[in-house]
Amino acid sequence: MDLRSAQPVSPRPAMPQPAVDSDIAFIGGGFRTTTFLSSAPALLRHRVRVYERGTGVGPGGFARYGITTTSIGSRFLKHLDLSGPFAALAHSPAVMDVARAEQPVAMPRLAGALTTLGRTLQGALGAEGVRLDSTVVAVHADRAGHRVDVRLADGSTETSGHAVLATGRTERAHPELAPWRAKVLLSSTVIATAHRTEIKERLLAANGRPVVVAGSSHSAMSALRILLDLRAEVRAEHPGAPLPEVQVVRRGPARLMHDSADLARRDQVPCRERPFDPARDICPSTGIVYRDSGLRHQSRALYCALWAGELPGAALVDASVLADASDRFDEAAFVVQALGYHGQAPDLYLDGVLVRPGDSPDRLLADDDGALLVSGTAHPLLSVLRVEPTPLDRRDNTAYASDLYRRLAGRLDRLAAPVTEVGA
Ligand SMILES: Cc1cc2nc3c(=O)[nH]c(=O)nc-3n(C[C@H](O)[C@H](O)[C@H](O)COP(=O)(O)OP(=O)(O)OC[C@H]3O[C@@H](n4cnc5c(N)ncnc54)[C@H](O)[C@@H]3O)c2cc1C
Repeated sequence: MDLRSAQPVSPRPAMPQPAVDSDIAFIGGGFRTTTFLSSAPALLRHRVRVYERGTGVGPGGFARYGITTTSIGSRFLKHLDLSGPFAALAHSPAVMDVARAEQPVAMPRLAGALTTLGRTLQGALGAEGVRLDSTVVAVHADRAGHRVDVRLADGSTETSGHAVLATGRTERAHPELAPWRAKVLLSSTVIATAHRTEIKERLLAANGRPVVVAGSSHSAMSALRILLDLRAEVRAEHPGAPLPEVQVVRRGPARLMHDSADLARRDQVPCRERPFDPARDICPSTGIVYRDSGLRHQSRALYCALWAGELPGAALVDASVLADASDRFDEAAFVVQALGYHGQAPDLYLDGVLVRPGDSPDRLLADDDGALLVSGTAHPLLSVLRVEPTPLDRRDNTAYASDLYRRLAGRLDRLAAPVTEVGA
């Protein structure tokens, strides 16, 4: 995040106690807020308030997709602290099935677990702690007043001692696809359960013209999987109808793989990358040497088959810049954009200055303990909870953000107003 107009801020003074509606405001009540707060039950002693534009706290974006997760199930709930208000979840099959899963899980199953977790969190926060159907349009941090104003779409404003941005990420229209914008669908649309019928209609209406997926990472493989599944359904429902080939335009092997096993050993980042294992990391049928940052599980198997030309109905196309494949895009019945996600956040004001409008191209950068970085300095009133995707230069670092929850919880606990213990 480039906040050049903002003044440097002094790091983390102890927070005074202004009269505010909450000690800590969480903007967004999705996966991150839910798993973070359930990893730190002690934080709930403070006055925590969650603002969520949807109708419930818990699954966030995961409720929308009909795919299998990339990560194994247990990773999503690895921080869960089954104490205090969350103790009863030890007996919840929905939660514990995912918490113990050593394989990727169907996303509806993950969403179910997060919904249960979210309900428990809502119960613990109470009516004052949750604002549903509440879209935050702007966050104003005022260092002199030691408070944050949370502006809502209904025109109201609530105040807090600190705000944590946990608003998730989204796909933005990619400039390289501008010439074909009218027929571009986002990968998140293709994998959404709500759009299955529409996508099938488009596949049928393509009348044999190809469908092009721009990108070759996880989101591209998820979209490819759905397109091939729906294509099979269309074939069964309309025997004889011409069906499109799905062409995946790859901008380069980039960071998906090493050029050879020798290079994999040589380029290994000690203590950061998972150690190279030829048995696991070399595809037996194609010889592709995957690096730790590469595709996993279903996406990896799919990419392997695609690369080897063994995936019926699909083909891989190389184009170092998308314009090199412009004839493919011209011919396509429709194009699926799978070129990455961008953090989304409300407008951010620091001391009265708009420093990051919601549509800013700047990334929301944070310190290792989640403090928002402003011109490289930690801001005392604002935190960011993994809003941006993992930065490209940290993709090989398996330790990236692994300690974030613990460090953020510790910092918020210190910053928030002291808790008066019952009986003290
Ligand atoms: C298809 C797909 C598959 C993925 N698979 C994996 C995976 O396997 N493993 C993995 O680790 N990650 C995966 N991710 C990354 C994933 O985005 C994050 O891990 C996770 O969903 C992020 O959680 P979050 O809380 O930041 O966002 P979300 O869960 O989307 O939550 C954000 C919440 O904020 C709310 N919100 C947004 N703006 C506002 C506002 N202005 N006011 C009020 N509320 C607001 C939203 O309604 C939402 O509930 C995947 C992402 C996608 C899209």
